[in-house]
Amino acid sequence: MNTLIKIDLRTLRKNPYYGYREFVPGATRTSFTATELPKFFKDGINCIITEIKADPIQYFGEIIDQKLVVRCINEKPKCVSLSISREVIEVTSNNQPEYFFKYLPTKIKCEECHNSFLHTELKSDSYFDGDDDIWSNEICPICGEWHCCHIKYESVEDALKRKKVKL
Ligand SMILES: [Zn+2]
Repeated sequence: MNTLIKIDLRTLRKNPYYGYREFVPGATRTSFTATELPKFFKDGINCIITEIKADPIQYFGEIIDQKLVVRCINEKPKCVSLSISREVIEVTSNNQPEYFFKYLPTKIKCEECHNSFLHTELKSDSYFDGDDDIWSNEICPICGEWHCCHIKYESVEDALKRKKVKL
């Protein structure tokens, strides 16, 4: 028979930072428009020309080498105008748990030595048998039986249902 380890409803609360969205600065992009391309603009090397319009002729593109940006700032070629923009990246922190909670200390009985103790006293251990990691979180603290009981931890979903009923 499985003993259910229930979540302590008083400790169950939503993590305020779960799914929290924030915006962080990303890469800087420098695009240019030019009515005439200076010789030091080398397509595919320090810039990428994305469009050329005729009548009047106009070049559009992106600078891929920061040295070219510096050179433009220093030499200020009249035929080129730069536009520097920064990407904004949205970050959602879903690597955090959605809920915080603790389990109620629950009395369980070892099926081997029949002693009673709280589930928080269970020991855990693991070893490598050559192929797999063998592990147990159900080791009796008294006799050391590897799987001393059958317990089931309540899911957050079930606890939330109970909490709703209580309210
Ligand atoms: Zn035992």
